[in-house]
Amino acid sequence: MTTVAFIGLGHMGNPMAANLVKSGHTVLGFDLLPDNLATAKANGVTIAASAVAAIADADVVITMLPAGKHVLSVYAEIAPHAKKGALLIDSSTIDVDSARKAHEIAKTHSLLSVDAPVSGGIGGAAAGTLTFMVGGAADAFAVAEPILKPMAGRIVHCGEPGAGQAAKICNNMILGISMIGVSEAFTLAEKLGLSHQALFDVASTSSGQCWSLTTYCPVPGPVPTSPANNSYKPGFAAALMLKDLKLSQEAARSVGAATPLGQHAEEIYAQFGAAGNEGSDFSGIINYLRDATREG
Ligand code: NAD
Repeated sequence: MTTVAFIGLGHMGNPMAANLVKSGHTVLGFDLLPDNLATAKANGVTIAASAVAAIADADVVITMLPAGKHVLSVYAEIAPHAKKGALLIDSSTIDVDSARKAHEIAKTHSLLSVDAPVSGGIGGAAAGTLTFMVGGAADAFAVAEPILKPMAGRIVHCGEPGAGQAAKICNNMILGISMIGVSEAFTLAEKLGLSHQALFDVASTSSGQCWSLTTYCPVPGPVPTSPANNSYKPGFAAALMLKDLKLSQEAARSVGAATPLGQHAEEIYAQFGAAGNEGSDFSGIINYLRDATREG
């Protein structure tokens, strides 16, 4: 079994680390928040006094941090002290540019590295069914894959360093756009006198079918497990959706890709957040669209 250091024990990191402990790995953890450390300790993680202390004897280091600046600062701190030949796995969702810089830091210190962001949310993290999208060289992926398994439902090697983050932001751009599309359809249906269930029964088995409709339906009723049935409690918070849409548009600008719907989705989620809904599930966008009035 492997000694794994886990840095960033928040909503996602803590359940992921718990699954590594359950699979028999020795897990050392570090976070800045005492409450998160207490949860980790209760889950069987050995708490370290600092990030450097956590990684000193680790064969694998996993980071699950808020954004690129946190990952780069932790990498700069730990890389000079990491065990020779150790593997660094960053599972945070960050911009492609920072992901590539993180790989460079690892390479400078002769460490293996992969970017391995996830899809599946807090539920998937707890159940050990996350989808990992991995970017990095084949030798690094070969070491990463068995470590990721206890936390994963699916592991996809997407390509070179940064390819995992690229896959993540492209997927979530589809998600943001499709949730707005499904929400617009329900809003129009309501105004046309068509019931939620009738639209669901038709679209879920027709060409309008998509995850935002069939798994995460933004109106209560047709999919009992969707956050719409629980006052739009997240789930996947609107603030995180906006973060990922921003990352997609930053990447689109940097490579000159035309993503007009992605850009519009970012604007709509920015307005939704500014109206006080950052903590709502992202499917709550339907309430914002329903309240909006059409001009022209
Ligand atoms: P979170 O804020 O709950 O956890 C981040 C943790 O990092 C916090 O506990 C914070 O204290 C810690 N941290 C920050 N700087 C640190 C440092 N220098 N050293 C040690 N710890 C530090 O966030 P989360 O919801 O767990 O998300 C983590 C990442 O996963 C984000 O990049 C997010 O976009 C991504 N993600 C989240 C979800 C989700 O549903 N929550 C789903 C997929 C991906």
